[in-house]
Amino acid sequence: MPSTLSSRQFENKRVFISGGSQGIGQALSHAFAREGARVAVNGRHKDKLDAFLPTLPAVSSGPHISSPADVADEQSVINAIDQTFRDFGGLDVLICNAGVLSESPSEDVTYEDFMKVMSVNVTGVMFCVREVLKRWLHTGTKGSIIINSSVHQIIPKPAFLAYSASKGAVGNMVRTWGLEYASRGIRVNGVAPGAILTPMNDAWMNDPQKYETVSSHIPMGRPGKPDEIAEPVLFLASGLASYITGQTLYVDGGLTLYADFAKNWSS
Ligand code: NAD
Repeated sequence: MPSTLSSRQFENKRVFISGGSQGIGQALSHAFAREGARVAVNGRHKDKLDAFLPTLPAVSSGPHISSPADVADEQSVINAIDQTFRDFGGLDVLICNAGVLSESPSEDVTYEDFMKVMSVNVTGVMFCVREVLKRWLHTGTKGSIIINSSVHQIIPKPAFLAYSASKGAVGNMVRTWGLEYASRGIRVNGVAPGAILTPMNDAWMNDPQKYETVSSHIPMGRPGKPDEIAEPVLFLASGLASYITGQTLYVDGGLTLYADFAKNWSS
């Protein structure tokens, strides 16, 4: 039975969020805690995670926890997921949110820069999902996984070759996992944000002129707020989305709608 739009819809649920203390991840951690879930907040730096935890709304089922790990490091992911399952006694929702980008003309891209992005945005996602899946299959848990992709899953981004490649890859990983685990009751979906006001966009969001330029390319006329990604992720993770798997939900103020066609120029 699908749940309704009641509050505290994740009461007694347990959620692991990679890159969960900053930007969109921070909004995700707050949203799930507000809805009653215990949150395992991942990031690379334990002191930063420990300082972040007390800012989260407390929940009755137990304390939130820090799950430090570099998602690109296989053993560190195995340890963090293992520790989370032990501390929480299981897991209900996995959010793969951690991501990085690097800019360079494609003719100059280095192997190191390319692989750094791919190892976090693709391999890191694979490590987290694999470790959770094998534990869920063992216990028969019908959990939900959401991958934070990007509009650049489908919109090419010149000079961000690895980022475009990585987000294209996770789009197909979501479809593959969606199909592979549908019969086991495990749902896997993606969310694809447009331009969101997080530290990832420091290059333009604090400069009024650049901010206006970015806004002028977005059909809704403004960048999004991290909460505007967290709320659709709550939906995808909830019983309201019980029949949705293998899909990517674009949350982008219309950025993927071919904004240039808003006014007729072709006929
Ligand atoms: P952000 O830079 O503010 O946060 C990224 C988080 O990931 C940080 O907490 C960082 O510590 C963590 N992280 C980075 N590398 C890690 C690693 N190796 N191991 C563990 N954690 C690591 O960026 P954000 O905007 O909040 O981005 C979150 C996700 O949203 C990313 O996957 C990004 O690609 C995606 N996204 C962001 C935007 C945007 O406009 N901000 C748009 C589309 C997609």
